[in-house]
Order: sequence, then structure tokens, then C-alpha cells
Amino acid sequence: MRKRPLGQNFLVDTAIADSIIELADLKKEDDILEIGPGKAVLTQRLLPLARSLTAIELDPKLCRELENRFKNETCSFKIIEGDAAKFDYSSIKPGFKVVSNLPYYAATHIMKKLIHFGSRIQSMTLMMQKEVVDRLTAEAGNKEYGSLSVYVQYHCQVERLLEIPNTAFTPRPKIDSTLFSLKPRPQPKVEVQDPQLFFKIVNAAFFHKRKMLKNNLKAWKNNFKNEHGQICLAGIDLSRRGETLTMSDFANLANYIYSSNE
Ligand code: SAM
Repeated sequence: MRKRPLGQNFLVDTAIADSIIELADLKKEDDILEIGPGKAVLTQRLLPLARSLTAIELDPKLCRELENRFKNETCSFKIIEGDAAKFDYSSIKPGFKVVSNLPYYAATHIMKKLIHFGSRIQSMTLMMQKEVVDRLTAEAGNKEYGSLSVYVQYHCQVERLLEIPNTAFTPRPKIDSTLFSLKPRPQPKVEVQDPQLFFKIVNAAFFHKRKMLKNNLKAWKNNFKNEHGQICLAGIDLSRRGETLTMSDFANLANYIYSSNE
């Protein structure tokens, strides 16, 4: 049987590794969580900077190598052998910063899990596939804009930090990567009465990207209104497509439906 791939594209460009550490904006008193330390290109640079460093790595062989290599470290260093997509981040003291070159195959999944624990996290400096980061940072009207953009921007401030070519890794992946930062917001970007309903509407609006909202939002057709010959919801013309709606437009839709159905 073929071994399960673990997204092990190791960063070998040391100048880029130095830039990543600089951009992570770390302080001496920071507790850092690194996901997927691999062969420690980032770990070895993080250790002298941190008060503590916890690393989660799925590959048992790499875990043993890291334990041996860093056993005499003065900073408190702990390696957890486990799956970052399943890890319970509430088991770590709150206020930590995450730094990671995420494994591509699970990057979105792990990022969403981290966002779920966002109130415990100061900042995340993450590297992912460029195409995915294009979606995370996209604004309304951009062709990359979709439910993932809304989800991430609702919970976090997103900033693109560095573009990294595929030549910086061994083995070399087919695609380029981007380093970006996520800062969990103390309050979501928009005020919504029912966040679950808000995300249900957002997901429905983008379900068939090329379709008009009146088709994607049929589940709420009882709330549709005919205004000046247009089918509207909360004053929004439903012949538009989901990709043209800002986060505030989605919040208006959700709050309107919420109060109409109360
Ligand atoms: N940090 C190293 C670097 O920059 O070269 C390695 C990055 S490599 C893209 C991803 C790392 O995550 C690998 O070491 C891999 O074994 C590990 N990994 C893969 N899946 C994981 C998971 N679900 N949880 C934790 N670590 C994982």
C-alpha cells in the first residue's frame, strides 16, 4: 500500500525562512505553536526567540528526530505527536502565536480548526498554497471571492505577507505558496443576529457560483419581495450573483430573514 502523503515539501531557502520569522513579529515573551515542524527549518529559528515552543507533528519519525535534536534547549520545547486537524487547542495555555508552513493537503482544514479556537490565539503566521490565499484575501467583485473569503474575513483580519516560489522547497511542489497573517477579531467583522443562519445564506449564495441569488437562495423564497419589477431580499436585487455581495450585504440579508421569521 502507498504511504499516506503528508504534504512534506520542506522549505530549503534559508533567506525565505529568515524572512518568515521576521514577518511573524515575535517577542521574547511569546508562547509559540508550530504546526508541522518537519526538518526544523523554522523551529531552529523560533527557539531562541520564544518563551516556549510547542510543535505538533504527525510523522513519528520526524518527532523522534526533533526530540533528540532539541533535547537540551533552554526555551521550553515540547513536541506533540498528533494530527493538527484533530487537535484540541483548548489544551494549550491561551494567548499563543501560531507559525506554520502548513501541509497543503490539510491546510484549509487546519486553518479552520485554528479559527474555531481563535479567541485563544494572538496571531497566526501561516504559509499555504497561493491559490487558496488568493481566495482568503479576495474582496467582493473579485473572481476568487467566495464563502471561504467571507468565513475567514468575518473571524479574522487577513494580511498577505510574502509570495514564495515553488523553487524554495524540496521536493518541489507544482504550485507557489504565500505567507499570510490571520489576527482573530475580538468581535466578528459584521454584526449578525444568528451566525449559523448567516453562514447558511453565504454558503447557499455561492453554491452555484454562476447562478443568480434568486436561484441559490430559494430556501428563503417566502421572504422575497417584488420591488419595482425586481425580485429583492432586504432591498438587494436577487438577479445579482453572490460574488457581488459585500460582507455587510450578507449581514443585511441574514438579519432581515432572521427578524422576518421571528
Ligand atoms: N515546517 C517544515 C518546513 O517549513 O520545511 C515542514 C513543512 S511541510 C510543508 C508540512 C509538515 O507538516 C511536515 O513535516 C508533515 O509531516 C507535517 N504534517 C502533515 N500533516 C500533518 C498534520 N495533520 N498534523 C501535523 N503535522 C502534519
